[in-house]
Amino acid sequence: MKALYLVRYGEIGLKGKNRKQFENQLTANIRRALQDVAECQVEQRHARNFVTVLDGDPAAVEARLQQVFGIVSISPAAVAELDLEKIKEVAAAEFSKVARAGLRFKVETKRANKQFPLPSPEVSAKVGAYLLRNFPGIIVDVHEPDAVLDVEIREEQAYIYTRRIPGPGGLPVGVAGKGVLLLSGGIDSPVAGWLSMKRGVTVEALHFHSFPFTSERAKEKVIDLCRQLAAFGGSIRLHIAHFTEIQKELRQKTPERLSITLMRRMMFRIAEQLADRRKALALITGESLGQVASQTMESINVIERVTSIPVLRPLIGMDKEEIMILSRRIGTYSISIRPYEDCCTIFLPEFPATRPRLKDVEAAEAALDIDTLIADCLAKTETMIIK
Ligand code: ATP
Ligand code: MG
Repeated sequence: MKALYLVRYGEIGLKGKNRKQFENQLTANIRRALQDVAECQVEQRHARNFVTVLDGDPAAVEARLQQVFGIVSISPAAVAELDLEKIKEVAAAEFSKVARAGLRFKVETKRANKQFPLPSPEVSAKVGAYLLRNFPGIIVDVHEPDAVLDVEIREEQAYIYTRRIPGPGGLPVGVAGKGVLLLSGGIDSPVAGWLSMKRGVTVEALHFHSFPFTSERAKEKVIDLCRQLAAFGGSIRLHIAHFTEIQKELRQKTPERLSITLMRRMMFRIAEQLADRRKALALITGESLGQVASQTMESINVIERVTSIPVLRPLIGMDKEEIMILSRRIGTYSISIRPYEDCCTIFLPEFPATRPRLKDVEAAEAALDIDTLIADCLAKTETMIIK
């Protein structure tokens, strides 16, 4: 054994009946996240996961665990036999990793195994005294310690640790149904996808591509974005829809000032049909209120009317700055800022309607054979799985 990690989860412990499903999903997600970095054994016990690294780099395991939604914190732990002297020795070895003169510390013991002869406070006192003897200059401080040495006494053995590494929180991907993410190459939609995954949603991405107006590089970018998102939720199914024909039709037959609204309505219609085929229950977009012309309340209203399934907008209350900070943190920012042409910017009208009226939009659409356009687009949609 090279290392052992105690993996804690929060919320999922609270949800009565669904709890077992959540726990099993989390265990499966942890196994999948680790399968290509190390040989590990992942077990579920005592409302925890125990990850034993048999072979491979523990640092890589730690980094991966920090990307698994549902994990609240991770502690690299040492084990000791159920014997006070052994516990003291292992505690000292663990403590030596953080000890320094002047360090304020306390020992905290949890005794789940009531067969163990000493009560928790006594274990803490004895281990604390042992540490004081072995590490000159450290100070006991139970109220504001710099370091806590935890001793967990379980049925089979005792676990001893000093570190708690924060996990990403949220719920395990796979427990909250499926959503179709409208994924552009921009900064916002990948963050919207990430936030949905954080709440347990399985995301399938849909990207509208306008070859030859948009290049292969624009497509590459979306694939790279999916790869980055996949690091948090396993593989992502990416659908690439060819939007060129629809854009040409719109340009020929409809007023330019409505083109963004009309394009978005077509995107939403196609996304809804895809959702239906893929058994997804919602659409997800990177819209945030008021950011651009197509994201006024009026525009959102007129656009969303074409769908009957819910549209989730996880960024709705966020400022651009906040979205950018998050996109840096999750590693999508550097991909999103690569220069590219978006199918929407290419046909950006000079004066887009910021308050489109439903009746104008519907009148414009009367010139189109919408059903055929959608059916053709769906028929040519390519699908790939990004790991
Ligand atoms: P983003 O940074 O996600 O591109 P944005 O601020 O540029 O967002 P818009 O261009 O108005 O906003 O797009 C709004 C939303 O519409 C996007 O967040 C995305 O969900 C969807 N969208 C836009 N363009 C595309 C596209 N080419 N393919 C798929 N979805 C798209
Ligand atoms: Mg955009």
